Amino acid sequence: MTQPGFHDLISDVQLRKAIDALGYEAPTPVQLAAIPAASQGKNLIVSSKTGSGKTAAFLLPAIQAMLARASVNPESTRMLILTPTRELARQIVKNAEQLLKFTSFKVGMVCGGEELKYQKAMLRKNPEVIVGTPGRLAEHVSHKSTEFSGLEFLVLDEADRMLDMGLSEDVLKIANTCRNERQTLLFSATMEQKGLRHLIKQVILGEAEEIYIDDKPNAIVQQMLIADDFKHKEKLLLALLQKADFQKAIIFTNTKVRATQLDNFLRYNKFRVGALHGDITQDQRKVTLDHFRQGRTSILVATDVAARGLDIPGVELVVNIDMAYSGDEYLHRVGRTGRADAEGRAVSMVDAKEWNLTKSIERYLGVTFEVIAMPGLKGKYQGPDKIKSSGKSVGTKKKTAVKDKKAEAKPKVKVRERDKKNIGNRRVPKALTEAPAVDGFAPPKKKISKQLDDGGE
Ligand code: ADP
Ligand code: MG
Repeated sequence: MTQPGFHDLISDVQLRKAIDALGYEAPTPVQLAAIPAASQGKNLIVSSKTGSGKTAAFLLPAIQAMLARASVNPESTRMLILTPTRELARQIVKNAEQLLKFTSFKVGMVCGGEELKYQKAMLRKNPEVIVGTPGRLAEHVSHKSTEFSGLEFLVLDEADRMLDMGLSEDVLKIANTCRNERQTLLFSATMEQKGLRHLIKQVILGEAEEIYIDDKPNAIVQQMLIADDFKHKEKLLLALLQKADFQKAIIFTNTKVRATQLDNFLRYNKFRVGALHGDITQDQRKVTLDHFRQGRTSILVATDVAARGLDIPGVELVVNIDMAYSGDEYLHRVGRTGRADAEGRAVSMVDAKEWNLTKSIERYLGVTFEVIAMPGLKGKYQGPDKIKSSGKSVGTKKKTAVKDKKAEAKPKVKVRERDKKNIGNRRVPKALTEAPAVDGFAPPKKKISKQLDDGGE
């Protein structure tokens, strides 16, 4: 039997034309599963790997349904898509506009950092689709400049992040003003955290179908460099960037201060670099990302504002100069490479304070990072003493292109019980110390505390 194509899923002629114009030949597994389910009017909770085409998986069925029927209330927005960052909102606006190219539907964007007045004028024009970040949208809800009483689709992209601390309050405030009979669609590469359930119940009214795509893992080589301290990491980074073969690279730091520091450091060392974090103005953020997309810069230094959803062709290397806070956040950062079946490489720099965290992330993801070294830059720290004295070399070479030990080559859809351990949660220090020891998972005894300074956009 041949695989179903877009013609089996999408009957609208204008929409099919737009899909052709984008060059999409066949639906991806998540599109194959989510489009029919959403077209049947169901609420969905969808989990599928990074870069697997989730955006079209929620846009296509919603657009098709809206094109096929009259609006409930002509004064109201018909589809609302919430995202954690402005950059992701802009990317989704672009994708939606491409798919709506042959229709009369309009898309509006509502994010922080832009004038309220201008956004209110745009909202009065009442575009069918609005994409936005929760903080600014909640402000508009307070000013009564939104109208969601006839809303047909509410989408939370990066849904686990949207229901995370700091964002969920605004998300729920907005959701409460949306039409009760709407369809709610939640999408992310990571939907396993405990504690999400009760929040999901507040945004999804009624029944929901869970779709979990157990697809073949992304081809990302995952490596680590052991470091003494940040100065050492900077030296390792220079050597890595000089040696590595990449079109574009993203370097993740855990704080804005560190991102600025590294931006200056790399600029001083003659790299074409830009920085993206929460303290940079909206205009500058846009310019920085545009330059990176266009290839005018080849390196982006960023905090976790760039970890989620960004789809930038040519990103072949991701460096965690600070290790990610959690297994899930690691997965999103690293997922900026290896998108849509491309190959990628991820290198994490790990010092003594990050050792236990790194081992927990390895266990959570079911991978062993290949330990690599930069010639002439070996540090004093080489991992915990017990590993050194056991005679086992921490430098054991292991090819780790595989991300998920549970993943199989054949895509399949299943309804999943949430029985995963806590390590995937964003707030790692707590999750690490409180997670039960299951499945060979032993939480480290020492608490690792890190400072979080970048909430939301
Ligand atoms: P995700 O949200 O799952 O991380 P995206 O929606 O950002 O993934 O899609 C990743 C890339 O794949 C984008 O560049 C998108 O244009 C492309 N893409 C999506 N669907 C298809 C398809 N059916 N065929 C080819 N490319 C696709
Ligand atoms: Mg996405």
